Amino acid sequence: MKTIIEPFRIKSVEPIRMTTVAQRERYLKQANYNLFSLKSDNVLIDLLTDSGTSAMSTKQWAAIQLGDESYAGSPSFYRFEQALKELAPFKHIIPTHQGRAAEKILFSIIAGPGKIIPNNTHFDTTRANIESTSCQAIDLVTEQGLDPQFIAPFKGDIDLIKLRQLLVDRHQDIPIVMLTITNNSGGGQPVSMANIKAVKALCVEFNKPFFLDACRFAENAYFIKLREAGYQDKSPKEIVQEIFSYVDGMTMSAKKDALVNMGGWLALNDDDLAMKARNVLILTEGFPTYGGLSGRDLDAMAVGLTEVVEPDYLHYRITSTAYLGNALNKIGIPIVKPVGGHAVYIDARAMLPHLAPLDYPGQALAVEMYRLGGIRACEIGTVMFGQQPDGSEQPAAMDLVRLAIPRRVYTQSHIDYCIECLTEVYANKDKIKAMKIDWQPPMLRHFTAHFSFK
Ligand SMILES: *Cc1c(COP(=O)(O)O)cnc(C)c1O
Repeated sequence: MKTIIEPFRIKSVEPIRMTTVAQRERYLKQANYNLFSLKSDNVLIDLLTDSGTSAMSTKQWAAIQLGDESYAGSPSFYRFEQALKELAPFKHIIPTHQGRAAEKILFSIIAGPGKIIPNNTHFDTTRANIESTSCQAIDLVTEQGLDPQFIAPFKGDIDLIKLRQLLVDRHQDIPIVMLTITNNSGGGQPVSMANIKAVKALCVEFNKPFFLDACRFAENAYFIKLREAGYQDKSPKEIVQEIFSYVDGMTMSAKKDALVNMGGWLALNDDDLAMKARNVLILTEGFPTYGGLSGRDLDAMAVGLTEVVEPDYLHYRITSTAYLGNALNKIGIPIVKPVGGHAVYIDARAMLPHLAPLDYPGQALAVEMYRLGGIRACEIGTVMFGQQPDGSEQPAAMDLVRLAIPRRVYTQSHIDYCIECLTEVYANKDKIKAMKIDWQPPMLRHFTAHFSFK
């Protein structure tokens, strides 16, 4: 059989509220054309983010009933710890309420003024947590990773020559080397095992700890299975185990590849660092066997960690994201290539050449997708990055619209609906109007700015 089906059936349904174009035009006006201000009840297909939006399985919901809410020494913690050690046998596993809490703890200990932390591309909360200690966060992704149209199997790879040079030039100032798998800010592109091994070799040579920002470790492992020689016959779990065998620590948002709605952790091998991390944890998150979480959350993560490496799940996950991307490509919609693991990115600047970057083509496209089809996507472009600290405005490097796919939530007919909607948006793309900002806060404007048509 060629048809790839969702490897699950639906036991509990969450109704979607149907709306009309006329209603959505009204909601848009009320939200000042900011999609973050919409009530999610008024969204048909919500592709704003894949973070914390996964559907949990029957086994996860059953595990929630087994959650033990003891303050200290809960069996829920030990079940979580064991499930994680099965994939990533770190000595110290420290739960947190989400990924950025793990980052905050780690960087408050190892970063600081005068230091510098390299990564393929720092995710925005990672960069912000590093910079808030006056440490420098530096992105060293390969040239190919910066070219949205260039097709290569591992566009998340870090540039090894630049990394070596930095390790030579700034040896004393580098506390750790990081890699983000998959490279979220670079379009969800995977990192190859060869690159991970080469970074490990550099870290050994220069005596530096190697940490992963591992939010999408399972998706990354599946791309290695599909695209890297020598891994075709390995299971995703074996590939995940090999990835973690090369590293000294990880930060994690369980809202991604642990298939839960809230959670995260910091895991590492160094005893002294772990002791310091637990001390901060107790100040900001809670006792070391619960971090910022309930016992039931830890049990849901334990089960999620076994499900996320199942081959049928990953096959469906990677194929269904590519299904949307390939369909848009066929229509002629310019997308970031190849399609990443968790999202499809439309190049709105290329799709709407009649709009200048300061006409906010990404915002205009996202607004039209909601108006016509009730689909909510996320502008990643000049609205998000164009505001300068001095109050002026610069076009961002790219104007993208991200369609992030929640895990196990939507069926193929939902995605076919999105394709139909985008076909119509594309047919009438010349009529999409320029936008302007009527009000904005001094920073992080994309969450709350008010827009209208020029
Ligand atoms: C989501 C994410 C984070 C932050 O995790 P939160 O749980 O949202 O705090 C860090 N790094 C990457 C790559 C992410 O995708």
